[in-house]
Amino acid sequence: MNMQLFEQGIDLVIEKLRVLGNRDDIRIRADLLHRIAALRTVETFCPQLTTTLEKIPAPGIVEQMVDTPQNLPQVSSTGNTLDELKAIALKCTKCEHLARSRHSVVFGVGNPNAELMFVGEAPGADEDIQGEPFVGRAGALLTKIIQTMGLQRSDVYIANVLKCRPDMPAGAFGNRQPTTEEMETCLPYLREQIKLIKPKVIVALGGVAMRGLLGKTEPMKQLRGRWHLFDSIPVMATFHPSYLLRNQALSEKRKVWEDMLLVLERLEMPISERQRSYFFNK
Ligand code: URA
Repeated sequence: MNMQLFEQGIDLVIEKLRVLGNRDDIRIRADLLHRIAALRTVETFCPQLTTTLEKIPAPGIVEQMVDTPQNLPQVSSTGNTLDELKAIALKCTKCEHLARSRHSVVFGVGNPNAELMFVGEAPGADEDIQGEPFVGRAGALLTKIIQTMGLQRSDVYIANVLKCRPDMPAGAFGNRQPTTEEMETCLPYLREQIKLIKPKVIVALGGVAMRGLLGKTEPMKQLRGRWHLFDSIPVMATFHPSYLLRNQALSEKRKVWEDMLLVLERLEMPISERQRSYFFNK
């Protein structure tokens, strides 16, 4: 069976179930969603196990196939390369509650030599299923922002402070913010990632990311539009794409764009007239 097609099919089923689950008159069983999602993630967690993809495994069998906090070693060392670090992070069980509830450890994606790195707060439901940061609605908007900057997602590196989706009560939908403790526990992975990638500029997406990255708790309207430092790397704070989805005012989009223009200037990238006046002509 073509693995990529199979995974796309699973993603589509999950997406449809999630949309249905948002309806008041329909409740999707969380364990069913978990079993379907596990079909997709078993490969990632246990590539040594050959699974029968034709069958949805019964509950219990899934638990035996995926690594759990009980059967994984506690890993405290860091890797010398991004791949080694990723391999360590994928087995992390420092937050036992998150290791139990996650489908994937969402390590990060993009150019390992990127000059520009985007850092969000934590994976949401879509990212947890797909194992990649910023792939949901907020991710689509982030991709648009990156493209408007004249770049592709593959040019930059995208990661989160917390690598696992914050757990939710059984049957609940939506996402919760990561706690300070969860972010502090996970920060060493991001710090190592940053050390290995050595970006010239980091963009922190939203107030929670700023709190996790730099411990700054001021409102985003005070933090954005100016430079901060993380281990001597300049950090631009800006609104999270989810905020822009909730608040469609042009004034807010313009602020994010102004922040991105500062980033382009700092990276000494060319800025066209069209880019400079992007939101001023609208
Ligand atoms: N929001 C985040 O902060 N990170 C993601 O990966 C997705 C949504």
